[in-house]
Amino acid sequence: MDSGITVRALHAHAKINLALHVTGRRADGYHMIDSLAVFTRFGDRVEIELADSDGFSVSGRYASAVPLDGNNLVVKARDALRDQAGPRHTPPVAIRLEKNLPVASGVGGGSSDAATVLRGLAETWRLDLDDAQLARIGLSLGADVPMCLAAKPLIARGVGDDLSTVPRFPALGLVLVNPGTAVSTAEVFNALSDRDNEGLPPLPRSLDFHSIRNWLEITRNDLEPAARTIQPAIGKALSVLNRAGAGFARMSGSGATCFGLFETGNVAKRAAVDIRSRHPDWFVAATRSMTSEG
Ligand code: ATP
Repeated sequence: MDSGITVRALHAHAKINLALHVTGRRADGYHMIDSLAVFTRFGDRVEIELADSDGFSVSGRYASAVPLDGNNLVVKARDALRDQAGPRHTPPVAIRLEKNLPVASGVGGGSSDAATVLRGLAETWRLDLDDAQLARIGLSLGADVPMCLAAKPLIARGVGDDLSTVPRFPALGLVLVNPGTAVSTAEVFNALSDRDNEGLPPLPRSLDFHSIRNWLEITRNDLEPAARTIQPAIGKALSVLNRAGAGFARMSGSGATCFGLFETGNVAKRAAVDIRSRHPDWFVAATRSMTSEG
């Protein structure tokens, strides 16, 4: 099969929950959320190439933290798409993952890798699948995969799969900091004392930096108190971001990665250099969020 392109090189963006309210729990145990999420330019990278036989390899700073077998979400995504489309239309592929995002860290790295592989393989294999069909396959792999397929500023409700994109959302300067400790999402949700909180307030009419920052002040990440109790280093990451001049700092997802909000990309870069020099063993990345236009 001729895909027209020898190697497809793709970005798997980090997902940052700028705000995350836990609004209830379903009978099946899944938590309901109301979250404003953005996606950053910094992330993992995925390469896909038609090959004689299927292959999967991982490089990058966090390669040793992910499974190399069928438990990797990259392999699960490939197999789920092949199951859907049938073996005749899905010839062997070599997939290479550059794992730059810390694992089990609240930035949805595994979900984003899976989403990127679904999109990349659908193109490589020239499958006739629309966004809704891809999202359905994505949801079978994880609740956050559909939002990672969208990879635009959005409000996620339900278990995270009821998505509304937010038009005209600006690019934000962000510094991501992880103090080097994995946090189990299940453990954080189990430790919640309150699961029936109100949803997010309406977004400000004008989506400029200051209005967004003021809006963030009246929202929360409801997972942060429980995660900080389980992993006190999260509190340290937040104070380091504040001391480095972040206009606002909060934990993403179930942690332990925290983000600081900066008015410009340059200020964010300077803050990241400062934090890295004080904490050389931490994960620190200055980046910008993607806009609704990409
Ligand atoms: P979320 O914010 O959606 O909770 P997370 O950032 O906390 O996600 P991930 O980094 O996606 O968590 O990893 C969750 C689990 O999935 C880990 O225990 C890891 O072993 C497994 N996993 C499988 N494949 C991958 C992958 N490609 N990248 C990261 N983790 C993976």
